[in-house]
Amino acid sequence: MKNLLTVGLSILLNISVIRQALPQQYAIPPELFSRAERTWYKETSSSADVKTFCETAGRLSRYAHTEVFGRTKEGNDLIMVVLANPKVTTPAEAAKTGKPVIYIQGNIHAGEVEGKEASMQLIREICFGPKTPLLDNQILIFCPNFNPDGNDKLSATSRPSQDGSPALTGIRTSGEGYDLNREGIKAEALETKAFLQNIILKWDPALLIDLHTDNGSWHGYALNYAPAYLTAGSPAVYNYVNEKILPSVRASVLDRSGIPIFSFGYMNQRQGEQTTFSTYSHLPRYIVNYMGLRNRMAILSETFSHDRFEKRVMSNYLFLVSVLEYTNNNHREITETVRKADEETVRLISEQGGKIKKGVTYKIEAAPEAIPLLTRETEEYTDENGRTRRRPTGRLHWINDVKHFDHFVPSEEAVVPSAYVFPAEMESIALKLKEHGILVKTTEKRFTAEAEQFIISEYTRESRAAYGGHYGVKVTGNFLTKKVTVDRGSYYVDMKQPLAWLAFYMLEPQSDDGLLYWNYFDDYLIKNGVEKRTIPYPVLKVK
Ligand SMILES: [Zn+2]
Repeated sequence: MKNLLTVGLSILLNISVIRQALPQQYAIPPELFSRAERTWYKETSSSADVKTFCETAGRLSRYAHTEVFGRTKEGNDLIMVVLANPKVTTPAEAAKTGKPVIYIQGNIHAGEVEGKEASMQLIREICFGPKTPLLDNQILIFCPNFNPDGNDKLSATSRPSQDGSPALTGIRTSGEGYDLNREGIKAEALETKAFLQNIILKWDPALLIDLHTDNGSWHGYALNYAPAYLTAGSPAVYNYVNEKILPSVRASVLDRSGIPIFSFGYMNQRQGEQTTFSTYSHLPRYIVNYMGLRNRMAILSETFSHDRFEKRVMSNYLFLVSVLEYTNNNHREITETVRKADEETVRLISEQGGKIKKGVTYKIEAAPEAIPLLTRETEEYTDENGRTRRRPTGRLHWINDVKHFDHFVPSEEAVVPSAYVFPAEMESIALKLKEHGILVKTTEKRFTAEAEQFIISEYTRESRAAYGGHYGVKVTGNFLTKKVTVDRGSYYVDMKQPLAWLAFYMLEPQSDDGLLYWNYFDDYLIKNGVEKRTIPYPVLKVK
């Protein structure tokens, strides 16, 4: 006993001697360990914890610049940490380095807290080692807690599909009641406005990574990922993420940890063994898909809700490290791909505006080859009411020949014009486009041009409100080509600009996620009698 005590004491003494001998940067203060780490994964970090964490990193690390980029309805700060070597504090300094900016966002749905915790751990390890080399060729911006109002409304029932701890998590919506991942086009929430104004338009990230936890399909992967699905945006950007980054990251996570990850998809194993695995949606209201319309890269990450909390955080951490290693190693290709996508957009419209077509609605399609899919084995059982149900056995197995619905193709197309023109009274449309960074001019003199105009023959409004009180609108009709006279002072969107695909998706009348869908034209259309007769859509398409 005495010997053991002596050995124990000498180990403790040795540790304290080693600690004193370590250089200063190894003395990591307790604020730089997340609440999840400090509570053995029983609790998740509060918004105050994240704020203290980010401020401490900004104060102590020579790589970190911490900045408040917005404020929520409930008065919480939106905080980001910019990591660079050497440190940068402004977008101009970042641009001068020529390195791509990568933006990593956690907690957009504040019940899905894994990305928040994993981001904090990674920030610490980049600032104080061993992950500092991730800053060799890129600039990283982390916003671990994009929905602080939702984060602090702790409840035991906000994520019923999540197995195990943390016992309490926040809620999905923001303080204003918005689902922040349906804001891509309408951008009405304070958080989204701050994101556009102070991150997207100022820092212009080449890649956005959005961190979630899924709702509980019984597949066999620790994490699922998706690119910004290809709609009207640049195919080169989509292809780079889908064919280069994601397969390489999948292999890297498996290699370093043995953890299998795969493309995002749903399957309903509660109804027996499935033969299809289908992804979610192409709509740009989802922030990841939205980035594709800006010719930028984006990745959705969804950790597996039936893993324990610490494993979910670890999977998320490993995924982030693997993506950021890829981008760090391939920084030039990434910078070039987005630069060329912008150039190609302007060139294509200069040469073929008024002739080429792009999709305005899309349908999901399966990959040409069936795939083997790792899933949870399930078995039948009889519940307390005598009903036959299914449950996972705890074993994993492969299902062969699964149809993988993993991409989208146009179901309806429209001509991409050289310019859009709309009347001066529609200022709210002009302002919304400008909020996204789209260039909108005012015409200085009256002119005539050949233009396409959409004649609305049928206008329907969904009867149930969805997402922030909106009633989705759809119109049917047809385009007429005619000579038009455009008044002085009208709004003019020249499509020879890098954000042309976003302008197209927002302004086309038949777009499945455009401004018409989100009620931005309702006042004008109803005032002009759209519910009673055929009327023209007020946005003209100049050939
Ligand atoms: Zn989510």
